[in-house]
Amino acid sequence: MNLADWWYGLVGFSIPVMVVYTLATCHITLVSVTIYLHRHSAHRALELHPAAQHFFRFWLWMTTGMSTKVWTAVHRKHHVLTETEDDPHSPQIYGLAPILFRGAEYYRDAITDETLEKYGRGTPSDWLELNLYGPHSVLGIASLAVLDVLLFGTLGATVWALQMMCIPFLAAGVVNGVGHYWGYRNFECPDASRNVVPWAILICGEELHNNHHTYPNSAKLSVKPWEFDMGWAWIRLLQRLGLAKPLYTGPKVARADGKTSIDMDTTWAVLNDRFRVMARYAEEVVAPLVEQERKHADAFTRRLLRRSKHILCRHDTLVNERQRRHISEVVGASPILKTIYEKRLELAQLWSEKGRGAELMEAFRTWCAEAEETGIQALSDFVRDLKSYTTPTPVRAHDN
Ligand SMILES: [Zn+2]
Ligand SMILES: [Zn+2]
Repeated sequence: MNLADWWYGLVGFSIPVMVVYTLATCHITLVSVTIYLHRHSAHRALELHPAAQHFFRFWLWMTTGMSTKVWTAVHRKHHVLTETEDDPHSPQIYGLAPILFRGAEYYRDAITDETLEKYGRGTPSDWLELNLYGPHSVLGIASLAVLDVLLFGTLGATVWALQMMCIPFLAAGVVNGVGHYWGYRNFECPDASRNVVPWAILICGEELHNNHHTYPNSAKLSVKPWEFDMGWAWIRLLQRLGLAKPLYTGPKVARADGKTSIDMDTTWAVLNDRFRVMARYAEEVVAPLVEQERKHADAFTRRLLRRSKHILCRHDTLVNERQRRHISEVVGASPILKTIYEKRLELAQLWSEKGRGAELMEAFRTWCAEAEETGIQALSDFVRDLKSYTTPTPVRAHDN
């Protein structure tokens, strides 16, 4: 072998082939993280055929050196302790820039024996894990470096560097940082998670982080018709090949036309769909009434109401001091907005305080009756629709 072979690689691939190879390998790594580590191992949202599990484990060992147990444990801890001092990577606690650019360091700092013991249950502990992937985690990425250099010569080192950077930056930095900082929220779950973009292609669905924190056990991360989850597209393909089986894809609700009484079935159906119910309250009750009040208000109040819908509908634990003062001014200026704001808080508290039995049903009935007594049409229409909620007959996950 002469020097030119090393410079251009043994095969002599062209630059376009090298670019396609780099993008494809990074994409497969991101698919492996979202489908295997995240949705399968950490959340048990889908089952994977053993052959698929072995492929993903081998690929992740080759391209990241990450251990399934470590990733699973740190991620589960993030869900349990989101936005607290013990969250392994909250930009609300540590700031966005440190998580975005040094996300991998925060991830490494979170790895302790206690965390692995408490949150790492149910992860692989077979021969491969104990004898190869665990003790020789560097061997995989070193083998990939050799392969890259054999294929592309000295440029292979650049390919390898990009492959090594895609997870620390895209997955650890962007998802853990931006996903709790910038973007839109479909649901008021009790943390700062946000959907970064609706077309989740680059990071294979992980961009839809507010949807994920709302329904962490769902195999599908898109919920709106205009959202796209690349990871879910791959799961559907694996499902057709008999390699994957989604176990849960989010709550389902059916409607019983003409139903006007609230029984345990209604209560369960509404409880099960509570995040969408609260999102509908924001759109169907709060938004039109804020708009109605704006039309008849003086210039000062119109300015006050400009961004009020979002602030009036934020999860109470996420409202800061400035927003709380804003809410006081809004409800002080408009009795009708005061009523719907208080009814919203009461509805949100029902799910967290009243258990899941007859007490919850009674509290829900009382809330509905009081909402109807306010005489506010949008609130009455909302309650009438809630009364038609019923638990659907079982729906197979792959029918979604
Ligand atoms: Zn998160
Ligand atoms: Zn998760």
